[in-house]
Amino acid sequence: MLSQAQLDRIWKLCHKRLTRMPVQYVIEEWDFRDITLKMKPPVFIPRPETEELVGLILADLKDCGIASEDMDTLSFLEVGCGSGAISLSLLHSLTQVRGMALDQSAEAVALTRENALSLGLHDRLKVSQVDVMRDADWLLRTCSPVEVLVSNPPYLFTEDLDSLEPEVKRFEDHAALDGGEEGMCVIDQILALAPRLLTDNGRVYLEVDPRHPDLIQTRLKEKVMGLKYVKTQNDFTNRPRFCILQRRGAG
Ligand code: GLN
Repeated sequence: MLSQAQLDRIWKLCHKRLTRMPVQYVIEEWDFRDITLKMKPPVFIPRPETEELVGLILADLKDCGIASEDMDTLSFLEVGCGSGAISLSLLHSLTQVRGMALDQSAEAVALTRENALSLGLHDRLKVSQVDVMRDADWLLRTCSPVEVLVSNPPYLFTEDLDSLEPEVKRFEDHAALDGGEEGMCVIDQILALAPRLLTDNGRVYLEVDPRHPDLIQTRLKEKVMGLKYVKTQNDFTNRPRFCILQRRGAG
């Protein structure tokens, strides 16, 4: 039998959910791979595909022959960290690496810091409030060189925002979703900066819309210098969602 206090508490949670608040915000936490993260509106809620992105990075680093002895010199940069899911999951799995996580939102930066602290990973993660669209000089000065550049950027086509579920549309930060007309605004900026941020043969790992792998390959052919397209990987629904690119070494 539930007590009145428990019933009141459950009713409060139900009431929030009935406003279409995402369950992750209602219960204020969510699991991501093998860590639990605090969730707080309007910070973007990590999706299951992004767990696959982290798995893909871990497998790719292994395939590239980056032995665990080298890991203590490895560093990554995450653009658009939201709650910190990708960075914290990488740090949790790779116990020697260090990372930098950026977001233009003060709420996201605060939540990533809070999650890093509660997971005991704060010593290896630097979190900064930076808008990559505007602060490119700062980024190049402060963050390079890194071996790994990772991002789940805002990649929705602006026209698709209207058809989002109320949970997403009403509660999540649109800046973490809206990638402009073709969803490529932040992706284009990452492609432009990557050659100057990465070490020789350093890699970019992106989560994108299924229309983006082709668009990104066209960009690389037409105008982005210094990067080569390595491969596309599908998500669990078999849609092309993850791109790996690599900096071309000199010569
Ligand atoms: N997959 C997300 C959604 O459909 C969008 C994520 C993003 O833009 N990074 O809500």
